[in-house]
Amino acid sequence: MKKLLLGAAALLFAAEPALADLLVTNIKGVRATADRKVERFTGLLVGDDGKVKRVLHGEMFKLPAGTRVLNGGGKVLMPGLIDAHGHVMGYGLALGQLDLTGTKSVAELQQRLRDYAAANPNLPWITGRGWNQEMWADKRFPTSADLDAVVKDRPVWLERVDGHASVGNSAALKAAGVTAATKAPSGGEIRDGLFVDAATALVDKHVPAPTAEMRAAALARAQEALLSRGLTAAADMGTSLPEWQAMNRAQSDGTLKLRIFSYASQGVLLDSQRPGAAGLAERAMLQKVTGVKLYADGALGSRGAWLKQPYSDAPGTRGLPLLTPEQLRLQATAALALKRQVAVHAIGDAANEMVLSAFAAVGCGTGGKRCRVEHAQIIDVPDLRRFAAGKVVPSMQPVHQTSDRLMAEARLGPNRLDGAYAWQTLARSGIRVPLGSDFPVEDPNPFPGLAAAISRQGLDDQPAGGWRPQERLSLGQALAGFTRDAAWASFADGQMGGLDAGQQADFILVDRDPAAVSAHDLARTQVLETWIAGHKVWEQKPTVTPERG
Ligand SMILES: [Zn+2]
Repeated sequence: MKKLLLGAAALLFAAEPALADLLVTNIKGVRATADRKVERFTGLLVGDDGKVKRVLHGEMFKLPAGTRVLNGGGKVLMPGLIDAHGHVMGYGLALGQLDLTGTKSVAELQQRLRDYAAANPNLPWITGRGWNQEMWADKRFPTSADLDAVVKDRPVWLERVDGHASVGNSAALKAAGVTAATKAPSGGEIRDGLFVDAATALVDKHVPAPTAEMRAAALARAQEALLSRGLTAAADMGTSLPEWQAMNRAQSDGTLKLRIFSYASQGVLLDSQRPGAAGLAERAMLQKVTGVKLYADGALGSRGAWLKQPYSDAPGTRGLPLLTPEQLRLQATAALALKRQVAVHAIGDAANEMVLSAFAAVGCGTGGKRCRVEHAQIIDVPDLRRFAAGKVVPSMQPVHQTSDRLMAEARLGPNRLDGAYAWQTLARSGIRVPLGSDFPVEDPNPFPGLAAAISRQGLDDQPAGGWRPQERLSLGQALAGFTRDAAWASFADGQMGGLDAGQQADFILVDRDPAAVSAHDLARTQVLETWIAGHKVWEQKPTVTPERG
């Protein structure tokens, strides 16, 4: 019996098509070197194991027998980009919701709702977001009756663009047990099915959690969208247990192509899924639990970020911490004991100081631990040097700076901006600054991120000359932030990020040379093809011009 099984295995191997090396030639290669300079190359030799064998700089050499050749047609090839901070499932779920952004009237909202309901007959609840009555001619808020006119058979719950109000149909109100007699909680308001601020929780808590099927679909949608933007890997900051299970299923059924570094959400240590248990073996390195994600404070926009001094535009508050220093030290110690990385969200200067102190206390600067501060947005100037001193990794999002600029000026006033979004100061202090987008808070497209990193300007090219331009990064630094340094920040530097010999052959073909265009044009780069481990996993569909007859 044993012999027979062995025989069957041998046959299986024989049936596999013969693998061969792949030479990618006739390309304009652009990558960041280990010392963050822009380097050009002309070709790439990829082994049958999906790893880079050799980066070519125009030299001639004898090809191994049977090598396949891919003519790049003179296109620009870059390493696959890595987002050091995103939310894969949150993005996929958001992509699957009814999108109401840009609607010009209640009638248009109703039409989109009608189409979406018809396209998703089995969804128990219809959730959507993005309406803004300020954009409508009559500026009237939508009501339950507006939604009932389209969908009556199941709950509909639609969030306003800013997340501060939602409207529900009668079925949603019924499911939540809300009647005409229901009083709004303090800090909230209810009228005609419109729920404002604190009142939205009355219905929110009844929206069913996504099913396993919905999560699988969301993961597939997120993956497709991320690959199409040139991302070949992402750190998932706060993976829940059901999300982890969905990713694992996708990995085992072979549909997971994107590389995901999971950081377990607060309190969920995923004990059975230590690195290694997830299968870090050569071909199965698509995802692993890398660390845990903790929150030290909130965000600047809602004044939840914890500041050392009161908010300039709300002198009664300085935000608040979400953990005590003791809790933070305890949780960090527990994670480190499990050989996990610790990644702590800290936006305000008080939160950053607390995290730096906790990291020092638990020995983050020793034994190659790579403890991370997520966002590291507002830092008291004397604390900036503590990152390098404590070997702490600031994981930063260039597009947050361009989106937040005016709001940050209002919240902080003019005298607290020296340590705000201080990319170059941190980079110059001798540490790596991995970059990302925090999708879906921002669009995951890494090219506007690269452009913001080198220009400190938004997609609108504002402000002229860049905001606090002394904190701009060089293109080499920015590319490294989205490749080598992002890989390093998740302990994947030996495996990807630089297209170095021995690393995974994760690369993209794009329509322009990042080192030869302006920041404005860099932000508008189109990805043509995305390759992971030497295999094409995405390509741009040719645009079809409709025939006229
Ligand atoms: Zn985030």
